[in-house]
Amino acid sequence: MGELQLIEQIRRASHPSQNKAITLGIGDDCAILRPPPNSEVLVTTDITLENRHFRRNLHPPESVGHRCLARGLSDLAAMGATPIAAFLSLALPGSILAEKSGQAWITGFFKGLHILGELHRVPLAGGDTSESPANLILADIVLLGTAPKGKALRRSGARPGDALYVTGQLGGAAAELSALLARRRRIVRIATIDGHPHLFPEPRMDTGEALLRRDLATACLDVSDGLSTDLAHLCRASGVSAEIEQAALPIHPLARKLGPHRALKAALHGGEDYELLFAAPAKLRMPGSIAGVPVTRIGRFIPKRSGRPMMTLIAPDGNHSPLEPGGWEHFSTRAKTRR
Ligand code: ADP
Ligand code: MG
Repeated sequence: MGELQLIEQIRRASHPSQNKAITLGIGDDCAILRPPPNSEVLVTTDITLENRHFRRNLHPPESVGHRCLARGLSDLAAMGATPIAAFLSLALPGSILAEKSGQAWITGFFKGLHILGELHRVPLAGGDTSESPANLILADIVLLGTAPKGKALRRSGARPGDALYVTGQLGGAAAELSALLARRRRIVRIATIDGHPHLFPEPRMDTGEALLRRDLATACLDVSDGLSTDLAHLCRASGVSAEIEQAALPIHPLARKLGPHRALKAALHGGEDYELLFAAPAKLRMPGSIAGVPVTRIGRFIPKRSGRPMMTLIAPDGNHSPLEPGGWEHFSTRAKTRR
């Protein structure tokens, strides 16, 4: 398979009509997009690099394609944006294009990417393709979304007194990854993408859009590096401190299986859950679920004071301890593969 054939395969699988903001998709020198009136365009890019973000002998190609798109989508969700189009720059080792197993890998990768894209009506509208001189796959994705002018949810809007919420459950992705690493063998077939928080995370698009539309959040971001690390970003951007009630943390059932100590660690520091972490006025009546995703109040924001920790964990017995950002190094330091 050559580059032209590959691009033709990509073009055939992409359905630009899925999103009416796309005037022209793959095939010309540029794509043409038309954002709705009174909107702003939001742009995010994410690198997916073999042996850093995935391993060919561990992750099925459908998972690599899914995760590549999910990471960008989750950034849009975190700002309440509506996705319009994705652009993908791919560097592939020559051996991938030459061998049958390599072509199957590419087909699987695009299958994973397109299934998630169809779900959220965000087609590929362009990209670039190159042979990789190293024997490594690189996929760089750019996502564009729109939000009503001036309304995108930022990290900087949390105020002392606001409550802290998280969507879904935490620690599932880290728990599934450690189970995969313990097996040391690739899952070849997956019956369903449900229930695989590491392999097939679900970006919270509808929830993010609803938070914006219904004015439910003062600040928001997605949990990509781990609750402790991402909450620190939110605190710093907003100039506030935060307290987390340990007993309130919604811990994923896969993490619970690890036992209480490791479960707590996965929920606090395990990244890649792609849930939304957001602030809202304490008096606001928050629904128990938004767009079908449960929402849990896990703490509060307090004024920032020098000498006081930026983040505090309150144990079930009431004991306060400082919480340090501890985004978890998923893989051993020897084989440094991480998101
Ligand atoms: P050019 O040389 O003008 O950049 P290309 O041959 O690289 O054109 O690309 C032709 C068309 O195919 C363009 O519309 C481009 O956006 C699209 N394209 C190329 N590679 C990819 C890819 N990996 N994913 C999606 N679209 C791609
Ligand atoms: Mg090009």
